[in-house]
Amino acid sequence: MNAPTSNSGTDFVRELLKQDSIDGPYGGRVQTRFPPEPNGYLHIGHAKSICLNFGAADEFGGTTMLRFDDTNPETEDEHFVEAIQADVRWLGFEPEEVRYASDYFEQLHAWAVQLIEAGLAYVDDQDAETISQNRGGFTTPGVESPWRQRSVEENLDLFARMTAGEFAEGSRVLRAKIDMRHENMQMRDPVMYRIRDQHHFRTGGRWKVYPTYDWAHGQSDAIEGVTHSICTLEFDSHRPLYDWYLEQLGQGADRPRQTEFARLNLTHTVLSKRKLLQLVHEGHVDGWDDPRMPTLQGLRRRGYPAEAIRAFAGHIGVAKVNGVHEIELLESFVRTHHNTHALRRMVVLDPIEVVITNWPEGLDDTREAINNPEDEAAGTRAVPFSGRLFIERDDFMLDPPNKFFRLAPGREVRLRAGYFITCNDVETGPDGEVIRVLCTYDPETAGGQAPDGRKVKATIHWVSADHAVDLDVALYGRLFTDPHPGSDGTDPLESLNPDSREMRGAKAEPAIVDIAPGEVVQFERLGYFARDLDGGDLFHRTVGLRDEWANIQKRQQS
Ligand code: ATP
Ligand code: MG
Repeated sequence: MNAPTSNSGTDFVRELLKQDSIDGPYGGRVQTRFPPEPNGYLHIGHAKSICLNFGAADEFGGTTMLRFDDTNPETEDEHFVEAIQADVRWLGFEPEEVRYASDYFEQLHAWAVQLIEAGLAYVDDQDAETISQNRGGFTTPGVESPWRQRSVEENLDLFARMTAGEFAEGSRVLRAKIDMRHENMQMRDPVMYRIRDQHHFRTGGRWKVYPTYDWAHGQSDAIEGVTHSICTLEFDSHRPLYDWYLEQLGQGADRPRQTEFARLNLTHTVLSKRKLLQLVHEGHVDGWDDPRMPTLQGLRRRGYPAEAIRAFAGHIGVAKVNGVHEIELLESFVRTHHNTHALRRMVVLDPIEVVITNWPEGLDDTREAINNPEDEAAGTRAVPFSGRLFIERDDFMLDPPNKFFRLAPGREVRLRAGYFITCNDVETGPDGEVIRVLCTYDPETAGGQAPDGRKVKATIHWVSADHAVDLDVALYGRLFTDPHPGSDGTDPLESLNPDSREMRGAKAEPAIVDIAPGEVVQFERLGYFARDLDGGDLFHRTVGLRDEWANIQKRQQS
């Protein structure tokens, strides 16, 4: 398989870290952070950010903190904190420390008071809508608030009373006093604090004012000693504000610096917490960990190994322009991993019965099958064989076209790890449908070869009917039929695939019991399947066997 490999090459972030570790202001120190908001589960896009922050810091002997950006009490919860930590560790990274923006609320508040005292922040009594209208546009300057010239004393008093909970939500905000005519809209007196009378999952009812992202983020970076604050491109225009706050607070040359990279987009899916939330709430999927979801919990349940996700992230690297990656590329990393690691088992997804008419009455037989041709150490297993088997319905045709080489009347095929069988007759039901295929076997072909050297054109898989274990198998298609859901301005959910999951009752060889919850196995000739994390007889199709990524590349080259 010519699957892509992880590229351990360099990129502009690593170049920056390298340069800074030689002559930067940090004395060779590298410190990054991964700053999720605990209001949802991590998805594959977050994985890109995690791999970059942890991976790049590690390459330069640095450290990475996990910091929860918990500044919006209404949507955040302890449950998400725990899930996110578990996901980061599952992905293979251990934070230097776990911190919370709320750890710094006291300091952030004190710094805000400092800016008020310096005449650099003021309390604005305009409501959110007015503030937004008065910000102006790209070509029109903003309009100064009538409250902009309040005295320091009045601002200190009002901010103290906002903090004490004297005013209603939305009635006042604290704004930085920068420049309402600034060409960068972010610099037009951005909001630093808003009033929220909400229970915070960590600080409870202690605070009535909460810092905005912009006010909390850079200052939290500074408190922790972050050197490189890596975020996605949409924060590009926030960088002057990030710097402005730190400069006003007197942070020196070794203050943190923000660098932006392109967020991950993948075809046939959405990577926005809001949209993923909608899928869950409207019942389009079973939950956040539904195997069709691009969340780390969904991918894990689906059978995507952390190694493959890391290899994918390493391969795509980081860029300065947004792009979309094909989901087939990610799948290709998953397939490559399982090809070398997964055990093989025979499972029939759509069974039709085969009766071996010359099978000796009462003969007990077992065949020896290879567990993993890519890994000799995986050894072999015994597979019971008997006079009554299941094969795949589409491996048999009553009246086959020219190119069909599998089982048909008068045809001989090899049963994998079994014998050659020849179809002599069929039994049909009332509507003429085939209900049973009657075959004879050649006992001389036990090793998979005929002593007289005769050849067969096909090898098919099978399961002994009397020994078969029943499984429930979930086959997945794309969650969205459109490769770029919502890209034409429509609601992405319009292209939801109504048939993204198909359930089958399947028949498996007994050794399927060896497969542990969460483990991935290759169903021979069918694909890779993960036993559900909660155990039981449910298997999820992780990915098929065909390398669709190779086909896409071929198409792109021609
Ligand atoms: P969403 O837009 O899905 O709500 P978010 O950016 O609001 O995501 P956060 O919890 O704030 O979610 O994200 C934590 C970190 O993960 C941020 O630094 C963010 O830049 C990064 N991140 C989020 N989505 C992606 C993505 N698709 N590709 C790369 N990094 C991402
Ligand atoms: Mg965010």
